[in-house]
Parts: sequence; structure tokens; C-alpha cells
Amino acid sequence: MALKSTDLNPHVVALAGGVGGAKLAHGLARILPSGHLTVIVNTGDDFAHRGLHISPDLDTVMYTLGEIANPKTGWGLDGDTFQNFEMMEHYGVAPWFRLGDRDLATHFVRTEGLKNGQTLTQVTQQLSKALGIQQSILPATDDSCATVLDTQEYGRLEFQEYFVKFRWQPTVVGISYKGEGEARVTDAALESIAHADLVVICPSNPLLSVEPILRLRGMREAIQARRVPCVALSPLIDGKAVKGPAAKLMGELNLDASVIGIATYYAGLIDGLVIDTADGDAVAELRKVAPALSLYVTQTLMETIEDRERLAGEILKWDIGGD
Ligand code: GDP
Repeated sequence: MALKSTDLNPHVVALAGGVGGAKLAHGLARILPSGHLTVIVNTGDDFAHRGLHISPDLDTVMYTLGEIANPKTGWGLDGDTFQNFEMMEHYGVAPWFRLGDRDLATHFVRTEGLKNGQTLTQVTQQLSKALGIQQSILPATDDSCATVLDTQEYGRLEFQEYFVKFRWQPTVVGISYKGEGEARVTDAALESIAHADLVVICPSNPLLSVEPILRLRGMREAIQARRVPCVALSPLIDGKAVKGPAAKLMGELNLDASVIGIATYYAGLIDGLVIDTADGDAVAELRKVAPALSLYVTQTLMETIEDRERLAGEILKWDIGGD
């Protein structure tokens, strides 16, 4: 099961959401030879906005791997302007979802491609190629499977209402995936998993970014059928999310918001878990609750590009199962 430490150039499949996932995917992209990384991306956040098909996580991964993302936010384009938004404000119809002027071009091309009968996979390939991206970026599905949240304060909310409009402050009492049971993982994604030497679950939000991928028909089975290691990097450091609602949500849904909760959440799927040095004290407990799980303790906060590369390198060199 272990990835051989001699296998220096493995084919890696990474499952990712947006900003957190894109950071590790970027580190992997920078150290693997071109063609050796496939990123399977969450589309549960996709939505229609003023007639445009927006795929926030695909865009974040594309812009990050294309090295044109806004470094301050992690999403959107570096140096983008918001003149269209300002004009909308002028008309008194400004939406709560801001789209940059250059960013709009991505949504125009995607929407037009989909209208002309291309799949989301095909349009994503076209956009990635135009951005000079050497890695394969794949939507997890070409079907629709939207994440929706039941909240105490506002009832059922579409994902972007919860995340952007209400800045993930409402209390979540349940999450569902509209289209679950029908939406299926793409053949391209399945093929990449079948040919992978290693599967990495990026430090994306387990409930909002990874679960919508795992819920797709055929996905969990494909990962479970693999004969190669699958590892996850914890998005929680010392019980806290680096950004966003992961810890808050896990608490609201009675899951343990800690590395123990992450290990439990991914039980049966992962062979190894990378946790932060700040969680070193949890190792003994982790060995009790998940005795078969390999553990790797390191600094997991990715503040610079060097951090991303270092972490990706450590994961690739890790002799999973050898501890
Ligand atoms: P989103 O869709 O843009 O919210 O992005 P993701 O779901 O991919 O990532 C959000 C998660 O990434 C959060 O739970 C963060 O805690 C986690 N995250 C972000 N940056 C880092 C980091 O540098 N290290 C670790 N370990 N987790 C991170």
C-alpha cells in the first residue's frame, strides 16, 4: 500500500475545493513534472448569476495553478478591477456577489461553451489550456449537484447565500446535496483515480468542499477500490480553521472540530493524515481512535509559495504505512 519512496515522480490525484485546497494543489503542481497532477474540483458551490454559470472552486484552482490569483484573498484575479460592479451600483442593482471585470471573461466563455453543448470538463480544459496550465483540472461532475444548507435563522439557503451573502454566520442544522443520487463523477475523474499512485485530499472544508465530491455516484467506490494510498491534510489546526466555517460547521453538526474529528470523518477512506505540529498532543488519542491510520506531523500552515512546495514535497516523500 505504501507509496515507494523511490517513486519520485508519482501520478497524483488531488481532491480540492477552493482557496485551502488550491494552496496544496499549487505546491504539488510546482514540484511534480507536468502531466503528473490531476486536481478533481468541487462543483457543489456552482451557481447561476445574471445568466452566467459560475464555478467558484474551479476558478480558484485554475487561477492559483495559473499563478494569476489574487494573493490577498486567494480567489479572484490579481489586479482585477470592479468597474462593471460599480456601474451596477450606479443603476442601483448591485448584487451581493462581486465579479471582477477580467474574471467576467471566464464566466462568459464557460457559459457560452455550456450553451453550445460543451461539458463543464471540456470548457475547463479549454480555459486551463488558454491559461497555460500544465496540470489537469477536472470538475468532479458534469452534472448539477448543489450544496444547500438548512439554517436556524433563515431556513434553507443556497450555498452562496450562506457563504457570501450571510458570510457563513447562520447556524447550520443540516446540509444536503441537491442532485445527490443522480449526479455522477465524470469518466475523466474516474480514470485519473484508476491511474494514480497517490490520492491526496487537500485541506479543504470536509463538509462543504470534499463531501460534495465524495457524494457523487461512483466517487467513494472509486477511491475505495484504489490500490494506492490516500492521504488527507487536516484543514483544522489546533481546533480552528485557517479560514472559513469548517470548525464552526463541524461543531454545529455535532462533529468533533479537531484532528480527531477529521480522522473520524475520513475513516474508511484515508490511509494517512497529515496534522500540524500544534496538534502533536493529539497523536496518542489518534492512535487509539484510528490505529491503522498513518500520521505525519509537520507545519501545515501555507503562508508562502515555499510553504506550499515544502508541504507537498513532504507528502510525496512520506513512506505512508511505514510508521
Ligand atoms: P473554499 O472553498 O474557498 O472555502 O476553500 P477550501 O474548502 O478548499 O478550503 C477551506 C479550508 O482550507 C478551511 O477549512 C481552512 O482551514 C483550510 N486551509 C486554508 N489554508 C490552509 C493552510 O494553509 N493550511 C491548512 N492546514 N489548512 C488551510
